[in-house]
Amino acid sequence: MISVAEAKQIIQQNLPLRRTINRPLADTFGKIVAADILAHTPSPHFVNSSMDGFAVRWTDVDDASAENLVSLTIIGESQAGAPFLGSLTKSSAVRINTGAIVPDGCDTVIPIEDCEVSTDGMVVNLRAVPQKGQHVRLVADEYDAGAVLIRAGTVLSPARIALLAQIGIVEVRIFKPPTVAVISTGTELVAYNKTPNELAGQIRDSNSVMLQAAIQESGGELVMSKRIEDDPEKIRKGIEQAAAIADIIFTIGGASVGPHDLIKSASQTIGFDQLFWRIRQKPGKPFYCAKKHESGQLLFGLPGNPVSVLMCYLQYVHPVLQYLSGRTFEWNVVYGRLSHELVNTQKRAEFLRVKLQTAEGDALSTIVPLAKQESYMLTSVTEADGFIFVEVDAEIHEGTVVPVFLF
Ligand code: AMP
Ligand code: MG
Repeated sequence: MISVAEAKQIIQQNLPLRRTINRPLADTFGKIVAADILAHTPSPHFVNSSMDGFAVRWTDVDDASAENLVSLTIIGESQAGAPFLGSLTKSSAVRINTGAIVPDGCDTVIPIEDCEVSTDGMVVNLRAVPQKGQHVRLVADEYDAGAVLIRAGTVLSPARIALLAQIGIVEVRIFKPPTVAVISTGTELVAYNKTPNELAGQIRDSNSVMLQAAIQESGGELVMSKRIEDDPEKIRKGIEQAAAIADIIFTIGGASVGPHDLIKSASQTIGFDQLFWRIRQKPGKPFYCAKKHESGQLLFGLPGNPVSVLMCYLQYVHPVLQYLSGRTFEWNVVYGRLSHELVNTQKRAEFLRVKLQTAEGDALSTIVPLAKQESYMLTSVTEADGFIFVEVDAEIHEGTVVPVFLF
């Protein structure tokens, strides 16, 4: 058996290669950009108006005032997408919309609210015009060609996807989401949407959907999810099938020492070498990890109990999937005071699920371990705010300040 830290180190040393791939822009939400993206055109890329109103020449209007109205002849219109093709001569104006090209010769836009148009629509009268160049968006006002718009390592949000669409980027180089296969083993399992036969001791397979959600959260791409009874040949075939399509393979159950714990031997017959098996931890002691020679694919053999599955996943697998999909992983940590003394005499480190209680005026919350901590009890996670890590042989006094790793 190895320690939690040793297990993490072994996984670190055996990480698969991180790869990148081109994806159509519309398919990149939540993905991580793999290389800096530069603007190849300026924004705006043509001079346009930021207001509905009239485009004019500053020299015609600079002395307009309430006492001295300036009258300009309206000679046409520039609409967004349908520009005015002429150029402006003395004492004339062009109707203009937001986003429309500012015609040649114009340098200033007067908002419609500040204009008085004659009843025949031929003339516009102006009072004061505060500023030369107002309401005109110049080329490169926002950014110039060559500017870095999105840096490598950035997550693609709706706004960033739109920014790339604006400059005509149709494909983005992203970190390739690792493909993941999940194999649930156990003759007792039925699909979660079926009714188990309790006389036969059947239970619903809750781990598969849990992992499906977790993989999505970690940035992986589920390519196979299968339930297989405790049959060595079927399990071997299942792993073989998974290895043909997935970068990372999960098995659930069958990693312990029972006669039906078949994952180790099945995986080893098809070329996986054990990296470790069994960690001094609770829950999740029977965790098994193997690597396929040549391809470097990782197989994580998770123990079957749901809390063990989740805790092993969060500790060891989530960071791997985050790394491969281009993210950096860090726990959200808060500190609190322990509600009562904890003494760990079990020779295994423990991931103890806890609740945080905060009374009015408390600077630090009180950390209360949940009473029911067995590894089949999923409520020990759903009712918890997070977990604390209790080292082997730890003696932590009541009131000690310790970190809580938030779920
Ligand atoms: P095992 O590691 O195969 O001995 O499984 C340990 C416990 O977890 C057993 O009680 C199994 O019935 C249970 N278990 C295994 N796989 C699943 C699963 N996919 N969903 C829910 N419980 C499971
Ligand atoms: Mg089993």
